[in-house]
Amino acid sequence: MLRGLLIRASESARLEHLVTTRKVSRGIALRYVAGETLEQGLDATRELVRAGRTVTLDYLGESVSAEDDARAAAKKVLEALDRIGEEGLPAGVSVKPTQMGMAFATDLCAELLGEIADTAGRVDTHLTLDMEGSDVTEATVGLVERLQSAGHRNVGCAVQTYLHRTSADVERLSRLPGGAASLRLCKGAYAEPEAIAYQKRAEVDAAYARCADYLLEHGSYPRFATHDDALIDHVRNSAARLGVDRDAFEFQMLYGVRPSLQQTLVRDGYRLRIYVPFGDQWYPYFMRRLAERPANLLFFLRSLRDT
Ligand SMILES: Cc1cc2nc3c(=O)[nH]c(=O)nc-3n(C[C@H](O)[C@H](O)[C@H](O)COP(=O)(O)OP(=O)(O)OC[C@H]3O[C@@H](n4cnc5c(N)ncnc54)[C@H](O)[C@@H]3O)c2cc1C
Repeated sequence: MLRGLLIRASESARLEHLVTTRKVSRGIALRYVAGETLEQGLDATRELVRAGRTVTLDYLGESVSAEDDARAAAKKVLEALDRIGEEGLPAGVSVKPTQMGMAFATDLCAELLGEIADTAGRVDTHLTLDMEGSDVTEATVGLVERLQSAGHRNVGCAVQTYLHRTSADVERLSRLPGGAASLRLCKGAYAEPEAIAYQKRAEVDAAYARCADYLLEHGSYPRFATHDDALIDHVRNSAARLGVDRDAFEFQMLYGVRPSLQQTLVRDGYRLRIYVPFGDQWYPYFMRRLAERPANLLFFLRSLRDT
């Protein structure tokens, strides 16, 4: 229930104003966000790379409703890719389709993502479409198919194991005519109704384990995005059982979450990519991170009270 409340709060403009204008909440958000500028995103990237990790850069923003804003966001992602190329950083990019105008102009969204995929291809890296709420799941899966059939082989998306449809999506995206898309497997960060999504943690985790096994056997370079010890162990054991090399898949974690677990995986010789968000539109992202761990909320509320 608390999780649902926080996710709804992530859509409130009034709360956004309240939280983003307070110095203390900005400070706490920076635990999860590299900073408000691309330079800060790149600084965090270099530091993580020195510590043996690769990176996904994410220019924060979502639910864009004007063409100019979508084009401006795409420009920023292209700038990030240029810098990745110039500096030879082992980093890709992640983009939310609604940041590129998906909610009001599918063709514009496909055009901008095609341009981003082109540039990502030129700097030899990958574009992942973040998966958002279930109102855009089908459109996002469709976008991956559309981009792949236009020749962009370096495009994949996230899939959320709390959705009933996801095992079918995983199979669908692993059987594309141009080859399987590289998918990011995650549990899902939005509030979805019982009719379409598992509500119990055990069911979401069991679906995660099933999809992980399928991807290890039939997928293309699967990306396991989780901080869950049991699921990480599951992936490690399944990969060993199926004889999948450690460089044929990667784990992914969020910037600022479980750094000691991050270190352990790198030390054990696994590939680990960190999702590094930057930009001033950090409010909804931050609220979803609070929703994932009630202790984060208590810490946040206490620090607001103490100021
Ligand atoms: C790289 C990456 C990309 C993602 N992309 C998407 C996406 O495109 N779409 C989408 O819906 N979701 C995305 N997510 C979020 C994901 O769906 C989950 O909401 C989130 O990862 C928490 O689930 P978990 O697998 O870590 O397991 P959980 O069971 O939630 O967490 C396991 C443990 O990790 C720790 N932990 C987890 N989250 C936090 C946190 N925020 N702060 C502190 N500790 C925490 C806690 O100790 C917890 O006990 C992404 C996650 C990652 C890691």
